[in-house]
Amino acid sequence: MVGNRPQFIKSAPLSLALRQHGVDEVVVHTGQHYDRELSRVFFDELGLGEPAYRVDARSPDVERMRPAIAAAIEAERPDSVLVYGDTNSTLAGARAAAASGAPLVHVEAGLRSGDWSMPEEHNRVEVDRLAQLLLAPDERSRETLVREGVAGRIEVVGDVMADASRLLRPVARERSRILSRLALEPGGYVVATIHREANVHPARLAPLVADLGAIHEPVVFPTHPRTRRAIDTSRLGVRANVHLVEPLGYVDFAALASRARVIVTDSGGLQKEAYWYGVPCVTVRPSTEWVDTVEAGANVLVEPGGIAAAVAAARMPPERPPLYGDGHAADRIAELVARLARS
Ligand code: UDP
Repeated sequence: MVGNRPQFIKSAPLSLALRQHGVDEVVVHTGQHYDRELSRVFFDELGLGEPAYRVDARSPDVERMRPAIAAAIEAERPDSVLVYGDTNSTLAGARAAAASGAPLVHVEAGLRSGDWSMPEEHNRVEVDRLAQLLLAPDERSRETLVREGVAGRIEVVGDVMADASRLLRPVARERSRILSRLALEPGGYVVATIHREANVHPARLAPLVADLGAIHEPVVFPTHPRTRRAIDTSRLGVRANVHLVEPLGYVDFAALASRARVIVTDSGGLQKEAYWYGVPCVTVRPSTEWVDTVEAGANVLVEPGGIAAAVAAARMPPERPPLYGDGHAADRIAELVARLARS
């Protein structure tokens, strides 16, 4: 079950591993991201199989997605249903699986930001309560799940995004021409991505965009459609050092982000990627589920007015513990899923 950008990326290494373990995968695309740039391009460039089902809800509403997912589960009668992460697509898939009785497998189980104002936090907790097999990226997540007393079996497998990064970064650097296309030098620019609901409200977006303009370096800002709409509607002025570009495919984005001096983001996944790339991260959110990156001194949480100062100060710590697995999570997951099918 996939529905948005990070889920396409997470599913790519797992699709490969499932194939290698002889597990048939039927992909259901919930249509939560229906913009071409945010969807089609990933299927093309990551070599993902065509989704067998397209829900095409064109809406992030859980209850609008659920019936069509339930119909796909009913038609396929799968040995298990896999959901990724914490979006409304994840929750819709989890509810549909639970109602059908098919065992639910949650990839990225046990993550918590502690921020109940984020819809994702509610999704995480509900999906983990429904899952039979909980695949946690790290020990911290496992401990959280044990504390919450979830009913399903917990396995620590590492992070599938690390697999995507391990497999695709070399390809990205070799294939992508994005730096020369944008006339950038490695280490000579900042990459920004902002799209969280809370940050695209004018009250936060205006100071945020102004603060990006106060950075003394070029800022490349691949602009999510939601953010672009908010900038246009509020007629926010953008300073000359800030370059708004279309959202990029994973390959170009990995090539760009991995050679930035600093990454400014409110994305979840990108905070980890920044860490794996060795690029310091400035996160425009009051909380994060990737607390270890902050504790390691590689990531800092700021409010919209604090971005420029944090970017100027951002450095990678000299010592960095390995975080979130070894890039071989997909293999472990495929093995567990294959075993679940046999049991
Ligand atoms: N990403 C991308 N193109 C872009 C911006 C981000 O491919 O223009 C990738 C990024 O490398 C990361 C993922 O999209 O792997 C993050 O997705 P997003 O920020 O939408 O979601 P979140 O991680 O916050 O759930």
